[in-house]
Amino acid sequence: MAPPPAGVSAEVWRAFFVISGAQAVKVSADRGDLFLPAEMSAVARAAVGADVAWASGLGIPARIVDSEAAANFVVELVSGASEFDCGGNLGVACTIVEYSLAGGVVSGGTMRFNSVGLERQRTRRHEILHAFGILGHSPLPGLMSLPSQQPELVGEEAIAFPAWMALARLTAYSAG
Ligand SMILES: [Zn+2]
Repeated sequence: MAPPPAGVSAEVWRAFFVISGAQAVKVSADRGDLFLPAEMSAVARAAVGADVAWASGLGIPARIVDSEAAANFVVELVSGASEFDCGGNLGVACTIVEYSLAGGVVSGGTMRFNSVGLERQRTRRHEILHAFGILGHSPLPGLMSLPSQQPELVGEEAIAFPAWMALARLTAYSAG
């Protein structure tokens, strides 16, 4: 059981875990290999590439790959500027994460952006961290709040992220 680290509330810590039966547990990716659609502009590609590099620096290797077969996350563009539905939440971006509760490993998934979401650094980074296995949303305004409000992990989430990274997969959340 992993209680929140010092300085992190139970509610913020909870956002880093996924439900497994009566518990919440850590799942995480061992890589984030993104395949970008051919119709994505060069400017957007460069922006996503920079954010992937930023995220990789947080400790889970991430990069853009040249073929869909080599990717575990496939990026799609959604037409239109208004919010679209992602599993019950409306937003300008969305990441569907596939994971196994046998090993606690994120195997991959799909990341979708509309033009508004794709233009926002905070949104691009937020979705990449979902791909790493942080499936929840922080109740405090930050990178992992809904909507994302900062382009960096800030405040309690900045303390929680490295603590979460240090946990073994399937470690169970504890409120305290
Ligand atoms: Zn989100």
